[in-house]
Amino acid sequence: MPLYDYRCETCGKPFQAKHGFNESASACPNCASVDIHRIITSAPTVARGMVTLAGDSRHASKEQLVDKWAEETPKLRKKLVDKLGEDFVNQNAPHLKPSQDE
Ligand SMILES: [Zn+2]
Repeated sequence: MPLYDYRCETCGKPFQAKHGFNESASACPNCASVDIHRIITSAPTVARGMVTLAGDSRHASKEQLVDKWAEETPKLRKKLVDKLGEDFVNQNAPHLKPSQDE
C-alpha cells in the first residue's frame, strides 16, 4: 500500500498513513483528531517531469522528421526523375521541388 503524508489541523503535527488509493486516513495518531489534511508532495513534481519529458520528445521527434524529410526528399525526387522524367515529377509531385521560392 502507498504511504501518504498528512498534517493534523488540531495539533499541527505531520504524520504518515498507509492506505489504499481511494481511501483516506481516519484520524491523527497523535491526538485522534479527524480534522486532517493530506499533503501532496510528490504528485506535482511527477506531473511537471512528465510534461517536460513529453515536450522534449515532441521537439526532438519533430526536428528529426524535418531532418529526415530534408535528407530523403532530394533522393526520392532524383529516383522519380530518373524513372519518370523531370516533367512528370514536376506535374505530379510538385511538393518534391528542390527550389525554396514558391
Ligand atoms: Zn493531531
